[in-house]
Amino acid sequence: MSEYRRIESALIHGGIYGDKYTKSVNVPIYQTSTYEQTGIGEEPVWEYSRTGNPTRAALEALIAELEGGTSGFAFASGMAAITAVLSLFRTGDRILISSNVYGGTFRVLDKVFNHFGITYSIEDTTDLASLEKSITADVKAILVESPANPLLTVTDIGAVSRIAAKHGILSIVDNTFMTPYLQRPLELGADIVIHSATKYLGGHSDVVAGLVVVKDKELAEKIAFIQNSTGGVLGPFDSFLLIKGIKTLGVRLDRHVENAEKAAKFLSKHKAVKKVYYPGLPDAQGYEINKKQAKNGGAMISFELYENYDIKKFFKSLRLVALAESLGGVESLVCHPASMTHASIPWDIRQQIGITDGLIRLSTGIESIDDILEDLSQAIAESEG
Ligand SMILES: *Cc1c(COP(=O)(O)O)cnc(C)c1O
Repeated sequence: MSEYRRIESALIHGGIYGDKYTKSVNVPIYQTSTYEQTGIGEEPVWEYSRTGNPTRAALEALIAELEGGTSGFAFASGMAAITAVLSLFRTGDRILISSNVYGGTFRVLDKVFNHFGITYSIEDTTDLASLEKSITADVKAILVESPANPLLTVTDIGAVSRIAAKHGILSIVDNTFMTPYLQRPLELGADIVIHSATKYLGGHSDVVAGLVVVKDKELAEKIAFIQNSTGGVLGPFDSFLLIKGIKTLGVRLDRHVENAEKAAKFLSKHKAVKKVYYPGLPDAQGYEINKKQAKNGGAMISFELYENYDIKKFFKSLRLVALAESLGGVESLVCHPASMTHASIPWDIRQQIGITDGLIRLSTGIESIDDILEDLSQAIAESEG
């Protein structure tokens, strides 16, 4: 990030600001697939919108600045972004992933990239010694999320990046849960940052998008080549929506986190709640590491109700907080990892890793915290058996 600009300002003024032709303060939606060229053999600035589009380019410059990288890339979804990054690898390469990596990341490795002979191993990335021991000659990257879904497990991004660098392999961080407003993995030493911009960056549950940022020029050239070759690019209108969303990321996250901190405290004291997972609570796993690498604990909370509470009744009784997949929008959402995001994991393994049937994930919105807490209270009361 430019030194003269603090992140609150960079969110609004970063990348490419406005339009140089009209001086409009917003980047226009360049809804075009192609551009007229000046002549044969004369290098055009813009040639075709898969390769480059001014609205998308403004978003790409913005996310690069926010993450402290040199190049940004916008894709049609978080999964398209992850697919582009995984396309860096070749037959015989293996990637180490954290045990609670996003389900779609696991699926694309397990069911798509396996066809091309690119393999993966699941590692406990909080155990650095064992992680380093797993780096054999075929391992070419470590992919982590911190905090990770759904137990908000914290991984030391700087330490993992140093291990990767020492072995000459890439460190990749999915920064969806934190955003550059709270955590900047490239500054901690990571090589590649990925986002599902569908979540906090977009922030209004109205766009599906993915972003990649790198700091190394050679890596940037490779990703640009893959982006243009495989073509999963973000359209101009969705790029505009993301730029618009990112402008308010700071104020939104301030409120998201303020609400999450209050909700985590409230739930910790509630008699129905067996356990709260929130990296902002001093007794949470990885609290100190998170404090070192991120601004605060973010706004995602998971909590477990005691067995005598009827989980189905809890979800049915909610009035304000919606039962839905996704996270990071202005509205509070809850989901049931055991039957939704992590349903594909067998029951006994789910128990071992802490994804019990009583586990609830809350994406704390920016509504009145009193309304959120009242809704959770009444739904818990209704579900008491
Ligand atoms: C949602 C999500 C993704 C996938 O992003 P899409 O935009 O849904 O394709 C990847 N990683 C994390 C951490 C996510 O939450």
